[in-house]
Amino acid sequence: MFYEYKLSAPRADFYDITPQVRDAVAKSGVIGGLAVVYCPHTTAGITINENADPDVARDMLVGLDKAFPDRPEFRHAEGNSAAHIKASVIGSSATVIIRNGKPLLGTWQGVYFCEFDPPRERTFFVEVLG
Ligand code: ZN
Repeated sequence: MFYEYKLSAPRADFYDITPQVRDAVAKSGVIGGLAVVYCPHTTAGITINENADPDVARDMLVGLDKAFPDRPEFRHAEGNSAAHIKASVIGSSATVIIRNGKPLLGTWQGVYFCEFDPPRERTFFVEVLG
């Protein structure tokens, strides 16, 4: 089953989309299977990481900015090559196991939409396979 969600991303940030993933799995009625969370954009990504301490996502953004800064030798005319690099490093999807009708996430895990080129109106997809 296929589900589409919209997301307003006014700033570079990790947006917690765990509720939408739980919503898609619940709507699907799938008890055991997989949920693929997919981002159809080239300057944003999807990842799973800690959702207990918001400083973790903040520190990941800082770390990505330090590791992949904008550089004068970049040629891409849109001027957002650093965002393209971060999107590829993070990846465009995450797969979550579904067990007993729920996403099998660890206690401290959440699913994040990672915005690297704000402000943007974004879309992401959840495909639930049972
Ligand atoms: Zn670009």
